[in-house]
Amino acid sequence: MYSTPKNLWSLVDHLAVALKRHSFTRKQLEQFHAQILAGGLLRSAPLLTTFLSSCYRSQEPHYALLFMRNLPICIPSLWNSTVRLSLDSGLWPDFVGLYNGMLRSSVFPSKVTLSSVLRSCAAHGAAQLGESFHCQILKMGFELDVILQTGLLDFYGKVGDLRCARKMFAEMLQKDVVADNAMVSALSKHGYVEEARDLFDNMPQRNSASWNSMITCYCKLGDIGAARSMFDANPVKDVVSWNAMIDGYIKADQLLAAQELFVRMGTARNSVTWNTMISGYVQCKEFGKAIATFQEMRVENVKPTEVTMISLLSACAHLGALDMGEWIHDYIRRKRLMIDAVLGNALIDMYSKCGSIEAAFDVFDRLPVKNIFCWNSIIAGLGTNGYGEKAIDLLALMQEEGLKPDGVTFVGLLCGCSHSGLVSAGRSYFSEMYDIYGVTPKIEHYGCMVDLLGRAGLLKEAVELVKTMPVKPNAQVWGSLLRACQIHKDAELSKDVVQNLLDLDPRDGGNYVYLSNLYASLSRWDEVNVCRKVMIDRGVHKVPGCSSIELDGIVHEFVAGDSRHLQITQINLFLDEIAKKLKEHGHESNRALVLHDIEDEEKETAVSYHSERIAVAFGLMSTPPGKTIRVVKNLRTCSDCHSALKIISNVYKREIIVRDRKRFHHFKDGCCSCRDYW
Ligand code: ZN
Ligand code: ZN
Repeated sequence: MYSTPKNLWSLVDHLAVALKRHSFTRKQLEQFHAQILAGGLLRSAPLLTTFLSSCYRSQEPHYALLFMRNLPICIPSLWNSTVRLSLDSGLWPDFVGLYNGMLRSSVFPSKVTLSSVLRSCAAHGAAQLGESFHCQILKMGFELDVILQTGLLDFYGKVGDLRCARKMFAEMLQKDVVADNAMVSALSKHGYVEEARDLFDNMPQRNSASWNSMITCYCKLGDIGAARSMFDANPVKDVVSWNAMIDGYIKADQLLAAQELFVRMGTARNSVTWNTMISGYVQCKEFGKAIATFQEMRVENVKPTEVTMISLLSACAHLGALDMGEWIHDYIRRKRLMIDAVLGNALIDMYSKCGSIEAAFDVFDRLPVKNIFCWNSIIAGLGTNGYGEKAIDLLALMQEEGLKPDGVTFVGLLCGCSHSGLVSAGRSYFSEMYDIYGVTPKIEHYGCMVDLLGRAGLLKEAVELVKTMPVKPNAQVWGSLLRACQIHKDAELSKDVVQNLLDLDPRDGGNYVYLSNLYASLSRWDEVNVCRKVMIDRGVHKVPGCSSIELDGIVHEFVAGDSRHLQITQINLFLDEIAKKLKEHGHESNRALVLHDIEDEEKETAVSYHSERIAVAFGLMSTPPGKTIRVVKNLRTCSDCHSALKIISNVYKREIIVRDRKRFHHFKDGCCSCRDYW
């Protein structure tokens, strides 16, 4: 495919040009190799370097090693540049073999090579290997070379050996700004901030890296004020300084300050800046803003990376924004971004949290390499979506693939058994998890079991488990038990459970809600009122109910009795129509019970205006017939809304998927996947 030119020099040029162009297959590399041999070009070091670098670019490091080993003449500079090539390509394991090959050919590393070796050892945390290079440096008599001394100082600082770093620094006869910076960052990495500052203040010369080390140092220590003063005083601010400061604000939970800097940066922002801001919004649970920032990033033509995608998928998972999630998946495919285990896991999580379990499974199935996180995500996804049996099947498959289930796997599995009512399977996995798999059950596993037994009406067994569990039961465990008591109307047990809940934390708002729900279910309204009054007196914080629905990439959020939405008049008219239909189909809300069974929402608000109902109504009126409606709610859905949604799914012939705080409800043809227990 590459015709051989007539004279030697044009052959060299021809090969050099061809080799610089792209990456090659193994076969093409062999052809080039053959041309080099046939042309007698083994002494042309620049050409050979180009050839070797294309081996690395083509992900064929072994071919490079093979080539070097079989070279009939020894070119020390070529060995050195090959070692550096392997380091630059990040092919760390390959480097060791190559380095040994070089020594076997009696070629010693140059100073430049040693310095890049030290940098790589620092980056990979290869402490022992780095130390052996230190010996090598001493043996070769390079101990007074400033570049290598700085390299060693930086290496020791980064692998955590501050004592050696200090020693290197003290022994240096000449110090330049690079050495000072390395020492400043070694000190700040180990928390010696005052010493670092002292050194910084006394530096004869400072560059942007010096300032940035100090900014990062203060940010890491949480002294955001000091970091900001450094940032403001920095006369040589570069994009790294801005990014470090924005990141610092986000880690310190000061989103507004981060945002302010982000805006002020204007066109100086690079992809790191955008990623920092997007993942910051996700961390602070401002998911809508994360997505909006991404849209802005696209408008400004900044190329998103895998990191961006992972943050965005997490935002979509929280919001239940399936359309946006699908768009991102499509974008990943179009841009041919590699779907590795991390990105794959983010996709699986997004699809299962958006209730699209088939799509989650499809991603899972296509992943070439699945790690434990991927298996855990799909098992948990199947579990919360009500496919307990399938989750169990996967446990067996996972082991066939040679992976050992861990604690997280069992949470997903037990949760799946609970949501699908698989009592005996749940029981046996719970006992096997330690006996067979060696995983010690933790509080969350006990919580799942209490939930599973309680749901099945096995209250005695559930209580027994709570009493005998080796860890102190927490509010979730008692809460599950209380829920079971409510469903199965066991008043005696309830009182005991509530007392335990209140002993645990008298100020936890959730406990009062449980308690008042219990009294409400027993129609003991006086006690309900006392309970509510205590809550108000103690200033117990109530989270307002909030539901979101995504339409054409825009997430609409509603709270109970909402009036902020632009189309609220039409929505209210439609809600009235729904209310009429519900009445026709015999839906009669027990007002007294309902008002108190609502978890945290304002009890004064009429039930028909609960946030999930508004979101569903908005979805029904804004989407074509037959389209599935997906709503995400931050709290548990109330029993009145639950039975109303069942009827709505039947009357309007729509599948409605509501993800509440605990689980998924797939409403279809008048039934719900949770089988009325949640
Ligand atoms: Zn409700
Ligand atoms: Zn349900």
